[in-house]
Amino acid sequence: MADDKKKPDIHPALIAALPVADGQLAIGGLPVERLAARVGRTPFYAYDRALVSRRVGELRTHLPEGVHVNYAVKANPMPALAQHLAGLVDGFDVASGGELKMVLDTPMPAGRISFAGPGKTDAELEQAVAAGVTLHVESVTEARRLAAAGQRLGLQPVAAVRVNPDFELKGFGMRMGGGAQQFGIDAEEVPAVLGEMQGLGIDVVGFHIFTGSQNLKAQVLVDAQAAIIDLALRLADGVTGGLRHVNIGGGFGIPYFSSDPRLDLAVVGESLQGPVDKVRAAHPGAEVIVELGRYLVGESGYYVTRVVDRKVSRGQVYLVTDGGLNHHLTASGNLGQVIRRNFPVVIGNRLGAAATGPASVVGPLCTPLDLLADKMDLPDAQVGDLVVILQSGAYGPSASPAGFLGHPPAVEVLV
Ligand SMILES: *Cc1c(COP(=O)(O)O)cnc(C)c1O
Repeated sequence: MADDKKKPDIHPALIAALPVADGQLAIGGLPVERLAARVGRTPFYAYDRALVSRRVGELRTHLPEGVHVNYAVKANPMPALAQHLAGLVDGFDVASGGELKMVLDTPMPAGRISFAGPGKTDAELEQAVAAGVTLHVESVTEARRLAAAGQRLGLQPVAAVRVNPDFELKGFGMRMGGGAQQFGIDAEEVPAVLGEMQGLGIDVVGFHIFTGSQNLKAQVLVDAQAAIIDLALRLADGVTGGLRHVNIGGGFGIPYFSSDPRLDLAVVGESLQGPVDKVRAAHPGAEVIVELGRYLVGESGYYVTRVVDRKVSRGQVYLVTDGGLNHHLTASGNLGQVIRRNFPVVIGNRLGAAATGPASVVGPLCTPLDLLADKMDLPDAQVGDLVVILQSGAYGPSASPAGFLGHPPAVEVLV
């Protein structure tokens, strides 16, 4: 049993918010056993479309009127989910030719799609120019290759400059701006690059300034957003066609571990009003865009696995499941954290049952890294029970080494 000093394994608020049906976790309104029967096999990922819709609604409630919410597709590129989101968000941000191809199948107009990311190939640049999406240019050499791609196609490329800011930002789970970066063009170089791009015939519409990911502290985001908008306004004089596009990034985080607070969206939204008003006063035609991946979809997803074996080794209980790090690398500990912490895990078909003691949930891979929960207080689970990892809607199968050990790939459903 847990001693008093030990923190709870799971955020109590996460557990309290779980929908229950027949004593089981309900996903998309279905008890998890029935959903597993419907899917036809385990393991699988299930994404709850109502939760995704609700999250977009919460953002609309709190963000200043007219701020665009874009979906960063790399968080979860499941095509059905992108189809669902196409009707909810204002745009898609993609980071590869493959993601671009997928979102062009949705009803999202090309003019509302942007393409960021270092190392775009000439083929990807041509694909994007032909599609009519906005390129987020990551280097001066990429800008030149983009202009050449436009010339080959006889089309004018539309681009925003991704800026690597000249200020440092702390408090992001993963920092992607400030200092030396493989992303974007250093702020001090931007005026010269803008001149060159426009001289090459590129229609430059504005800026993209993304500073980092998985941030749970409202004040850090508030400060970052204000600094980003100030920087965009400082650079805007060089945009000869007028500033039309200010993508201020996102980085809104979700709680994974019991010590994680929940981001205070109301504070983030309220504090953004002032900076947005500044943009509108100086550039009435400019769209302010927030791009979010994890925050839109992360909490809507569940990874459902079945207990294949239960064994006790020198007193420690192991629940061996049919799912593992080949499908869910982040739950095994690869979320960039130095000390591995447990994702929230429940026995989905015994939701009301009291914990009986610590058990470790491990996958079928022949490596000690295949650990989905380390000595968590769980109800007494048996072979056939369903172990469910919560907060699994972002950076799941597409961010996991599916080929490792040759098991079948993860199945995904939208419910
Ligand atoms: C990864 C990425 C995102 C999404 O980050 P989340 O933490 O999932 O919201 C947004 N924008 C850019 C440029 C990215 O690279």
